[in-house]
Amino acid sequence: MLPKLKKLKKNIYLDYAATTPLEPKVEQAMRPFLRENFGNPSSLYEAGRKAKIAIEFAREQTAKILNCKPAEIVFTAGGTESANLAILGVVRNHENKSAKKYHIITTSIEHHAVLRTMQALEKQNFTVTYLSVGEEGIVNLEAVKKAIRPETILVSVMYANNEIGTIQPIEEIGRWLKAENTRRQAKKLSRIYFHADACQAAGALSLDTHILNVDLLTLNGSKIYGPKQTGCLYGRAGVNLKTLIYGGGQEKNLRSGTENVPGIVGFAAALSLVQKNRIQESKRLATLRDYFFKKIKQQISNTIINGSVKQGTRLPNNINIAFNKIDGEALLLYLDSYGIAVSTGSACSTNDNQPSHVLKAIGRPPELVTGSLRLTLGASTTKQELDYTLKILVPLVKELRVVS
Ligand SMILES: *Cc1c(COP(=O)(O)O)cnc(C)c1O
Repeated sequence: MLPKLKKLKKNIYLDYAATTPLEPKVEQAMRPFLRENFGNPSSLYEAGRKAKIAIEFAREQTAKILNCKPAEIVFTAGGTESANLAILGVVRNHENKSAKKYHIITTSIEHHAVLRTMQALEKQNFTVTYLSVGEEGIVNLEAVKKAIRPETILVSVMYANNEIGTIQPIEEIGRWLKAENTRRQAKKLSRIYFHADACQAAGALSLDTHILNVDLLTLNGSKIYGPKQTGCLYGRAGVNLKTLIYGGGQEKNLRSGTENVPGIVGFAAALSLVQKNRIQESKRLATLRDYFFKKIKQQISNTIINGSVKQGTRLPNNINIAFNKIDGEALLLYLDSYGIAVSTGSACSTNDNQPSHVLKAIGRPPELVTGSLRLTLGASTTKQELDYTLKILVPLVKELRVVS
């Protein structure tokens, strides 16, 4: 039996992979730059200089986390822009050289920020290979090796997936590509750049660009308790990028437009905070996640976990489950009526009305894609919240299955 609605309506947010609330300490860091220190960083008088100093401090903070030079950081308006700048910025160096078709490698489970950019390039003179990921939802190095061609110029693999939370072997791919580039240099072949979309990884995993061996790394604020429409692109020194946004020449001509000073300050503060706490918080969230998986398996029959559950291959905050004979959309709306916010793989919950390409890529048939529910945990999540969610979800699934 389901509990009575009115008395029990709560406010339980389990969609941290969609976005996160602003951390109060981050808001505090941003506050002076909204009103008092409102100057344009390009201005030479004191107010401008103060804003400029704040940006350069944020750049140093970010560089420290990424173990790179401050000059290798470009602040952008979020993950989508960073991914576009990484991909288009690299390939536009090759655009007009010849009629030769250049080749790019990515995976079939990328975020739309990458996937749609690749699709746009396919309409131009580029060939794109979309690596399959298998049922576990993890790409392997052998697949990357096999896909490489003499005309390959870019490999773009996400660090962690936003739907099923699977962690991709970035370090392993990066190390191999580095060696491969040395071999290619001897053969006078084009260098292959390596981009990783780390938007979902930033709260849980190491972002050391030397260990990861990436040339380009995309990050954003909205997934790490920072402000929305903020983020950065790491571009290794020597990586030649073409700009997408022309104008006043800010960010070393790579991203023109008056800098979003409070946004940049907030992004860097948020990144520093989540990275400082990532190991401890990951442990806490993984325990909650595994508790939820165990309870669901015990209490509901015919459930399949989407994505790998092997140690170290899944983000600590990601729960994604396929229920058979269930309409995920209905489940989402019922849960919402109890004050529980989650997301599904079904078509109606996306902007383009397409069912999840990620669940399809791991081989889930359409009815299981539609019946999939994603719960992503975060800073405010407690065991009590998960127990309450189970109390609603378990009878709900049973009742909806009877109806279908
Ligand atoms: C959210 C997200 C993006 C897009 O970032 P925005 O800041 O919303 O533009 C890109 N990639 C991944 C993996 C994401 O989770």
